Amino acid sequence: LALDRTETPETSETLAAQDIPAVAGAELRVPLVTGESIGYANLDHAASAPCLSAVRDAVDEFLPWYASVHRGAGFASQVSTKLYERTRGILREFVDARATDTVVFTRNTTDSFNLLARSLPKNTSVVVFDTEHHAALLPWRGPNVRRVQTPRTRLAAVSAVDSALAECPEGPRLVVLTGASNVTGELLPVKEIAAVARRHGARIALDAAQLSPHRKVSLRELDVDYVAFSGHKLYAPFGAGALVGRADWLRAAQPYLAGGGATKIVTGDAVVWNNGPERHEAGSPNTVGVYALGVACQTLSKQWDEIVEHEAVLLDRLRKGLAAVPGLTELSLFDAPVDRVGTLSFVLDGFEPGWVAAVLSAEYGIGVRDGAFCAHIATKRLIGEAGAAGQQALRVSLGLGTTEEHVDRLALALRQIVARGA
Ligand code: PLP
Repeated sequence: LALDRTETPETSETLAAQDIPAVAGAELRVPLVTGESIGYANLDHAASAPCLSAVRDAVDEFLPWYASVHRGAGFASQVSTKLYERTRGILREFVDARATDTVVFTRNTTDSFNLLARSLPKNTSVVVFDTEHHAALLPWRGPNVRRVQTPRTRLAAVSAVDSALAECPEGPRLVVLTGASNVTGELLPVKEIAAVARRHGARIALDAAQLSPHRKVSLRELDVDYVAFSGHKLYAPFGAGALVGRADWLRAAQPYLAGGGATKIVTGDAVVWNNGPERHEAGSPNTVGVYALGVACQTLSKQWDEIVEHEAVLLDRLRKGLAAVPGLTELSLFDAPVDRVGTLSFVLDGFEPGWVAAVLSAEYGIGVRDGAFCAHIATKRLIGEAGAAGQQALRVSLGLGTTEEHVDRLALALRQIVARGA
């Protein structure tokens, strides 16, 4: 296959619209290596989920009206400000936040955790599993960070956090935890770990980047202090996410970015910063992205039961299909089966994941992810624990647009790839 996926565009010509295939009706068609085209089987929702049509329509209506928020008396500014501020309420409902929680708009989950990391009181101890996505693993620095090796059972995971917290010095404590693994789709025991955190006087921050597109997240029910998520994983365009949670640490922290919008009064060298969420939202915000995120959250909220059912049926079909592929080993965090979202990773004995992903795209019109999924420690360890070789894997992730045909096409493609050899 003459595919060089590292090639980068160098001329303005490469950005021209002819590189974007036309959309025929609702179906995206992609070119195959044979010259034919085929309906795109997007099995990479965990990376970014395609825009919902309700979101696209809403954004279309809003585009002529977007303007700077908070700082204009003009009608467009009023419309933008209203929608921007209303979205805080929508996100609050989306994660069932407490009345006193604040909603800070960020760029994405990574941005949200970096904001939280900058807002921790001095000497806060942080406990985090080493198998977290890098966005949740890396923002915490210093001697007070305890990385816990993720055990093979959910019960042991709860105990491991308990022990790590018991060893923390006096002072503020924070546990950072994903709701669903971006490598395996398995759900972590968030509620149980939150209960342990409470006993140690610790706060808990939930990485809902992978959980929130698939399940209702309730801060109150889980008893979690903070939640971070990204619009582009929730079927909205890139560039908007949120950190929702307790206001006190955020209010006491230095602004994330210094600049307009975060300030109340500036005189000479002195600055009085805003105390609300805008303290951490300096600069002209992503008004359109925030609006799109809100519409996506509202749209998903109306159909949780259908989403869960749709994915459970397809995941079952996918796993049955993959079970018939010789040499395929699925990765898992936990020894026993646990509740999970529609994401899974696997290795194929004797095949390089990047090569398989390229063949799936070029010959079958299937989009999957290969690599270590920004969770290098997790991916490498889980491959070893599964008794397989290598440091990289393939990941398949389902979403609202996934069909039985997509899943069946993948299983058939993998069987054919294995049958003909690398
Ligand atoms: N956390 C998890 C579990 C993820 O899967 C991802 C993205 O893949 C992130 C955090 C980071 O999200 P973003 O790239 O939108 O900041």
